[in-house]
Amino acid sequence: MKARNVRYLRPGSVSAALRALQDAGPDAVPMAGGQSLLAALNMRLSSPTHIVDIGDLAELRGIDEADGVVRIGAATRHAEILRSPVIRNRIPLLCDVGAHIAHVAIRNRGTIGGSLAYADPAAEWPATMVALEARIIVASTRGERSIAAEDFFVGLLETALQPGELILRIEAPIPSPDMVTGFGELARRHGDFALVGLVVCTRIDQERLVAPRLVYLGCSDHARTAVHVMDALDKAHVPLADAMLYADALRQDMSPSDIPGLRGDTRMKMAEVLTRRVINSLTRPR
Ligand SMILES: Cc1cc2nc3c(=O)[nH]c(=O)nc-3n(C[C@H](O)[C@H](O)[C@H](O)COP(=O)(O)OP(=O)(O)OC[C@H]3O[C@@H](n4cnc5c(N)ncnc54)[C@H](O)[C@@H]3O)c2cc1C
Repeated sequence: MKARNVRYLRPGSVSAALRALQDAGPDAVPMAGGQSLLAALNMRLSSPTHIVDIGDLAELRGIDEADGVVRIGAATRHAEILRSPVIRNRIPLLCDVGAHIAHVAIRNRGTIGGSLAYADPAAEWPATMVALEARIIVASTRGERSIAAEDFFVGLLETALQPGELILRIEAPIPSPDMVTGFGELARRHGDFALVGLVVCTRIDQERLVAPRLVYLGCSDHARTAVHVMDALDKAHVPLADAMLYADALRQDMSPSDIPGLRGDTRMKMAEVLTRRVINSLTRPR
């Protein structure tokens, strides 16, 4: 199948892109790396009238840090995040996570903003940004707003973005030195979307978890904190001996769906096992 005819626009600045989106109306879409959008167009799951290509806008690319926050431009590619010394030094969790996104060719084109806007519940960046309590800075011709990642994802492939809005950047707080982070996922092959995955940010005090934050991938329709599991694991002794402490809570928080070749209850069991595996592999604060 081929995409419907569409007008392709390539503005030279963010403000021109915002004007183009506004002028073209609600059926215009931005395109960053095109790795998800072009497939959707070709399968006619999406039929916009206009594509506004923002992938090469320098204003939207790059990584820096200021005032305890790492800022990542929306059109920064997955591969650039993996190579960034700022990321490696300040939020190394992103290097662990990003290495699981797809394959080299897709990581070279796909962008963090595109991944967040697409809001696939099995994607790595949305869950990670919720776990890190990052903020997503968006803009339209009406101005800018800053949205907590937890509020940004609202449903299956659905976000708080309004028509005409672009993600400009992500602002992720640099974890404090006593914060421990961990990530794990189970996929059929490395680079495939996760069947289940988990991002953890926590403190550990005298072998007990303190205020852990857990966000699963692929276990619900959008990235959000697993509040009952977090409650069940607060003050839990590590290493965890078994899943008894949190198994019921996990069922309250998550409901992985059946997918071809794998039932939802099997994925739930996988999430249960993965939780213990990730928690027990957390290393102590430096
Ligand atoms: C074979 C394959 C395997 C993949 N495996 C994984 C995986 O394992 N894990 C994973 O996380 N991802 C995976 N992906 C998705 C990949 O990471 C994409 O790069 C990403 O989801 C979309 O980024 P993009 O820059 O290509 O966005 P695009 O395809 O350009 O856009 C995606 C959506 O986001 C919107 N958009 C893009 N940028 C912005 C912005 N700045 N502001 C507002 N809206 C915007 C577009 O309008 C569109 O709706 C895979 C993709 C493929 C093709």
